[in-house]
Amino acid sequence: MEEGKRAAHAMLFPFPCSGHINPTLKLAELLHSRGVHVTFVNTDHNHQRLRRPRGREGFRFESVADGLDGADRVAPDRTVRLYLSLRKTCKAPLLDLARRLGKREGVPPVTCVVISGLVSFALAVADDLRVPSFVLWGTSAVGFVCTLRLRQLRQRGYTPLKDETYLTNGYLDTPIDWIAGMPTVRLGDVSSFVRTLDPTSFALRVEEEEANSCARAQGLILNTFHDLEADVLDALGDEFPRVYTIGPLAAAMHRRVDHHVASGLSLWEEDAACMAWLDARPEPPGSVLYVSFGSLAVLSPGQLAEFAWGLAASERPFLWVVRPGLVGGDRGMDALPEDFLAATKGRSFIAEWCAQEQVLRHRAVGGFLTHSGWNSTTESIWAGVPMICAPGFADQYINCRYACGEWGIGLRLDEELRREQVAAHVEELMGGGKKAQDMRRNAAEWKARAEAATEPGGSAYENLDKLVEELRVEGS
Ligand code: UDP
Repeated sequence: MEEGKRAAHAMLFPFPCSGHINPTLKLAELLHSRGVHVTFVNTDHNHQRLRRPRGREGFRFESVADGLDGADRVAPDRTVRLYLSLRKTCKAPLLDLARRLGKREGVPPVTCVVISGLVSFALAVADDLRVPSFVLWGTSAVGFVCTLRLRQLRQRGYTPLKDETYLTNGYLDTPIDWIAGMPTVRLGDVSSFVRTLDPTSFALRVEEEEANSCARAQGLILNTFHDLEADVLDALGDEFPRVYTIGPLAAAMHRRVDHHVASGLSLWEEDAACMAWLDARPEPPGSVLYVSFGSLAVLSPGQLAEFAWGLAASERPFLWVVRPGLVGGDRGMDALPEDFLAATKGRSFIAEWCAQEQVLRHRAVGGFLTHSGWNSTTESIWAGVPMICAPGFADQYINCRYACGEWGIGLRLDEELRREQVAAHVEELMGGGKKAQDMRRNAAEWKARAEAATEPGGSAYENLDKLVEELRVEGS
């Protein structure tokens, strides 16, 4: 620590789901590696699921109750219940925790609060502590801007939709050319939340409120890098003067953190056998398709069947993550069609959960069939693996639009899923034709740029240092 500056102590609190916890853990590791004292706050429920992680010098885990009961946790609207419950119950415990931390021997007082999206209520904790706050918004920069613009889309009458026919009559292809830095976007790309018929849509209001509340924070942190989204980031600078693009976080971690423990934590148990299966693949490198729809997506049994029989028809080897709950309730692997495993025997591996970053970087893997979640997209970019995109929720549509359009590393599946198209896209990507070669070349280029951004002197590397400096100044 420099002379005259107090130790910076960041208290981090993500929305309690994998898509928010994972990047926040990486940010926590990166801050800790730069000498910032870190307290990572989970909900009690996730603290148990993570098997009570133990911290280390200058990096502690704490937890607060989320206010849900057993019935809430299996309810179809459990994420909404969680969101509302956190808002109602968590501010006082977080404030109390921050105050208690500052009284512990050897622990510096909390000097800043870092939250993920969807927990903007915690900005008030920072206000009460009179310390600055930062938001790690977990989407791309284009995803963030689209969410910010939901308000204007509502006010200008683009959404809610007038009736169901607007979902299929071409209305979603309406060009939206007035969002600065994003001239080629269509309404349907902006977000799943514009696809509502409900004028009082809860999700739409929550998203726009949460994104707009980022303006109350001292700074906005994004898991992206400048080259990848330069136009929109430059345009965003007028509205958000302090944006720290420090990603891809997975790449930054790899480069800057030697002994990380926290980022390996996972709410699900990773199946180690899939790595051995990849190691033993007899085909040339890059032959295996990795298939995963992230931690939240729920498929209908019909969609699951279209993916399954499309993969079966493609005749390519694949590793598929079918987590419990992928098909609603607790259903997962047991929902796979009868005969599917027999039909793909010898070239398929089904796991409930895997170490995705390692899988994507394994030499056997050459393609990713993904729901286009932002963490998955950045992990694929860092691994240099092109994608087949099947978006279905929130920012996944805009991530897919950019992956397939601007970055040239994705093939999009139609919204009405058909096994023939799944098989044809898999063949196109894994078969090595002209389009696949172009995508592979683009993916290799983005991988190199992601590496360069996170190297000393790169934009993301410098931005992390600036952020740490900011935390130190504010904490002094
Ligand atoms: N993930 C993983 N193992 C799996 C599937 C997913 O570790 O078997 C991780 C993945 O690496 C990513 C996160 O779960 O970091 C999913 O985040 P994303 O933003 O892609 O999607 P979400 O789950 O938020 O829809």
